[in-house]
Formats: sequence, structure tokens, C-alpha cells
Amino acid sequence: MEKDKFWQSILAEVQLNISQANFNTWFKNTKLISFEKEKMEVAVPNSFTKEWLKNKHHDTIMEAVKSLGKEVNDINYVIKKQEKREEKVEKEKGKNENQMEFEQFHIDQDTNLNPKYTFENFVVGPFNELSHAAAYAVAENPGSVYNPLFIYGKVGLGKTHLLQSIGNEVIKSSKRVKYIPAQQFITGVVNGIRSGQMEQFKDKYKDIDVLIIDDIQFLSGKEKTQEEFFHTFNDLYEKNKQIILSSDRPPKSIRALTERLRSRFEGGMIADINFPDFETRLAILKTKAQEKQVNISDEVCSYIAENIQKNIRELEGALNKLIAHHNLTGKKIDIAGTKIILKNILESPTKNISPTQILKAVSKFYDVSESDLKGNSRKKEIVKPRQVAMFLLREELDYSFPYIGKKMGGKDHTTVMYSHKKIKKELDNEDDMKEELALIKQILLSV
Ligand code: ADP
Ligand code: MG
Repeated sequence: MEKDKFWQSILAEVQLNISQANFNTWFKNTKLISFEKEKMEVAVPNSFTKEWLKNKHHDTIMEAVKSLGKEVNDINYVIKKQEKREEKVEKEKGKNENQMEFEQFHIDQDTNLNPKYTFENFVVGPFNELSHAAAYAVAENPGSVYNPLFIYGKVGLGKTHLLQSIGNEVIKSSKRVKYIPAQQFITGVVNGIRSGQMEQFKDKYKDIDVLIIDDIQFLSGKEKTQEEFFHTFNDLYEKNKQIILSSDRPPKSIRALTERLRSRFEGGMIADINFPDFETRLAILKTKAQEKQVNISDEVCSYIAENIQKNIRELEGALNKLIAHHNLTGKKIDIAGTKIILKNILESPTKNISPTQILKAVSKFYDVSESDLKGNSRKKEIVKPRQVAMFLLREELDYSFPYIGKKMGGKDHTTVMYSHKKIKKELDNEDDMKEELALIKQILLSV
């Protein structure tokens, strides 16, 4: 078969297995250079794509080749500059710098642990030292010191990193660990009930030594899930198994949490993570730069650390963006360039996102299907996510109300205006809404 045609067939296969956005981003400018003796050479436009394909989509490509009846042992990704540099830079600018964060890598299917989060690369400062110390003690002696351990702090301040570090430390001693975001736990309970397979769901948690549940605030108002969790909690607790929880607020501030769960949470150790001080922000930037093997001057690091104060994820995002720019242009990362790049981030951190991404993120966050978002159901649990989606389309992308209506399955512009106003009002009056939007924006950067 002719090379180009063969590659097209492979891409068609691949396309079936990954999202359209992913496909467009990573496969669009690829080409088959050669295919001989079960070895394949694929041209890719830049080093990001190379890393990404190698680490994330390699198996998908291999599968696709196999499904076309060919054998392949090895794929070599070769960087080929296909376009003029200027054009390429323009294009790359449109991409989301967070794609550089190979977030999903090598996540263990069974434990859900991501090996990139460890105590070794967790920087400790006054703002998080209590949480760190407690986490470390628990990792050393699970089930015996602080049980449960409850860590809370605002978005992007390192809760997941810390929780995962405990898990990654504990599995070294071949104990059974399970990390699960609360949203996933909720979905598990809901599906268990729906399909009458609650026992299978419970079995998953029966024999665990360390159970880690992230973002427990999402249990708020979910009574059935809370009840299930209460039983799981008690079973494990009575067997002296360790339970570790995180939330964006302390237990007493989680609304609609049954009293018995609240008192369980408060029965162990509660530690918070605050906003990082300047020195620690600097230290984190340096650690991350080192991890990514780039040289960044003190001046540039200080400038970033001075300007991004309340979110370590954003701190890292800024660094990624600088590195991306450097890799593409070959220019040194200097203070002048940093100022320009940072200005864009500070003015609109979620620039360059697409409406599809917004719908995806909202759908993921509220666990509501995208077609429901665009549909006409008046159910409360769908109406609010729909309004949030419209709100974000307006705020993040500055779309006109009629256009948003069209995107949302043909709604009247007055409906969109009403939704926008409603969410805006909630945002002004309720901290919960602020937190929810912050979390959705966080998902937005990774879908
Ligand atoms: P949260 O779960 O609180 O929203 P994350 O744990 O996801 O925050 O942290 C956001 C990003 O910041 C991650 O990439 C994480 O590695 C990084 N990070 C947070 N705290 C630290 C720290 N103390 N040292 C190094 N990196 C950190
Ligand atoms: Mg988190």
C-alpha cells in the first residue's frame, strides 16, 4: 500500500479511539516517512508532539497498525520542520500550554497513583509544613498515627500532590493503596445502585490498606453516596486501615454533610495548606525548572513568583508556557519575553480554549452528558450545569448571546442572557459557586 494512504488508514483507526481535540492536536501534522522490517518512522512537527505520541499514543498507533493486518515492532518519531518557523509559532501559541503537563502519564489502573507525585519533589514551606509532616507520618505508619488524615486547602495548592505522595510512598512496602477522586466514588455508587451491582462496588474497597479520597467536598448533598462512604469508612477504620481525605474547605464548612460523617472526619487529624510565601514559590519554580531540565534565570523566576501568588498550578503553567515558547523560537528565556507571555496568562488564564473544551469540562465536573447540556431537560441537576456552560462560553470566549444559544442546541438568546445573569449573581453571593468555577477551569486546562 502506498505510504500516505496507509498512514491515512492508520489515522482513521486512531481517530476512533481518541477524542477529536486530541486527534487534531497531536496527529494533524504527522506523516509516515518509512515502514520497513516492522519498523516505522513517523514525521512529527515538534518535540512536544514527539514526546506526547511516544508516551501517550504509542500503543494506540501500534494497535491501529495491527488492526490493518500489519506488524510493527518499533516506531521512531522524527521531528521534521514542515512549516516556516513564524507560522509554527503562531499555531503553537493557540495550543494550551498545559498540554505540556503529561498529567495522565503512567497512572496505575489499580491504585490510580501517578508516579510523578512524590515527597521528593514536593517543596515544603511554612504554608504547608503541617500538612506535609502529617502526610509523611501517615505514609511511614499507615493506620496508626492520624486516622483519618484530612487535608484541606484551596485549588492548585498541592493537595492532590501530597495525597498521591503518601500513596506512592506506601506502595513501596507492598501495601494495598487506592486513590480515588470523590467524583469517581460518587459515580461508582450511582452506577452500582443503577445496575444493582453495589456488592461489586463495595468489594473494591474491602481489602485496602490505605484509602485516599480526593476533593471530598463533592459529597456535599449526595446523601446516598455519603451513606455508602460512611460504611466503607467504618469497615476500614475498624480494621485500623488508613483513610486520607482532602477537601477545599474544612469539614465543618462542607454543606450538607451528614453529622456522623462530619464527626468521623473531625475525629482524626485536620491540617491545612495555605497560600505559599514568596521564597517557597521561588523554590517550587526552581524545582520544576530543574525537573524539566531548563535553565531559568533568578530574575525570571522572581518575576513569575512575584506575579503569581495564589496557585501553584498556575505558577507551573507559566513556567510551561515559557518553556514552550523557548522550544519553539529557540530564543533564550529573558525577562522581556517573560513579561509579555505572563501578561497574557494573567489577563486571561484560560485563553485559547475551545467551546468543545468548555462543554467537556462542565460535563465532566457535574457528571452530566454533553447532550443533556445541550438538551431541554428541566431537571435541576441538568439546568444548573447548562447555565454554567453558557456562562463560561460568554465569559471565557466572549461569544454573543445568540451564538451561544446556537451552540447550546438552539436556545433563544434570552435564555442565554438569563442563565448568564443567574450564574453571575450566584458568583457574587456564594463562595461555593466561586469554588466550583475555579475547579471547572482547572479541568478546562486538562480536557
Ligand atoms: P490541588 O489538588 O490542591 O488543586 P495539586 O496537587 O494538583 O493541587 O497541585 C497543582 C500543581 O502544583 C501540581 O502540578 C503539583 O505538582 C504542584 N505543586 C503543588 N504544591 C507543590 C509543592 N509543595 N511542591 C511542588 N509542586 C507542587
Ligand atoms: Mg486536586
